[in-house]
Amino acid sequence: MHRTAVLSLCALAAAYNTAMAQGVGYDNTPQIPGQKWKVHDKSRPNPPVVTPAPAGDPAAAPGDATVLMDGDLDAWQHADGGSAAWSVGADGVVTVKAGTGDILTREHFGDCQLHVEFSTPEPVGESQGRGNSGVFFFGVYEIQVLDSFENTTYADGQCAAIYGQYPPLVNVSRAPGEWQTYDIFFEAPAFDKDGNLEKPAYVTVVHNGVLVHNRRALLGRTSHLSAPSYSPHGAEGPIKLQDHGNPMRFRNLWVRPLSAE
Ligand code: MG
Repeated sequence: MHRTAVLSLCALAAAYNTAMAQGVGYDNTPQIPGQKWKVHDKSRPNPPVVTPAPAGDPAAAPGDATVLMDGDLDAWQHADGGSAAWSVGADGVVTVKAGTGDILTREHFGDCQLHVEFSTPEPVGESQGRGNSGVFFFGVYEIQVLDSFENTTYADGQCAAIYGQYPPLVNVSRAPGEWQTYDIFFEAPAFDKDGNLEKPAYVTVVHNGVLVHNRRALLGRTSHLSAPSYSPHGAEGPIKLQDHGNPMRFRNLWVRPLSAE
């Protein structure tokens, strides 16, 4: 083969590999308000990968925390008000039972500090199909849970993303099967008596000991394929965990409601 032809084939192969690495996502979705990116933009760069410290023991709840998950599902219910149907193992670990639906806390919270421990299953599938769940405040503001260990997806949908709005500052995911932690500081949005937004929600997220969102203002409810926007709600709401069809594991969830004073 002619040398020039070989070189252009190599260039084509390199371009193809680059496109494959960055090309997961969409180019026909709405613009994210105030950003240069579209929702789930396939050209949005994925954040740098950072190796976290090794996983440690469960972080014990401080004395003033409300324990949400410690060997049972008593604090949780199904969205329809029935019992939470996820499974609880002999070791106290909770596993998503695919198809049974999301679970919500019976108690409602406003501003809070939330600790979550999760572990993604053996990799099956790819992109959003791998180790997908989520932690939602007020049931509608999602911090994504995903297996983002050597698994490329669109940047605003990877693990620890504010789903459809902001990727994490870095990808500090641990491997499937290892325990990971979120420490999330959530400030509830406020609405006036006519339902207009007075103050957006703010969120700070620490993933496996590393800061990945530093008091980010949310652009509204997180959503798939559509642009975020706010619709009014009360001062407190449930925390929700998502059944996205993958046997994700959770343990040791606790929350500290934060007073405005
Ligand atoms: Mg999710």
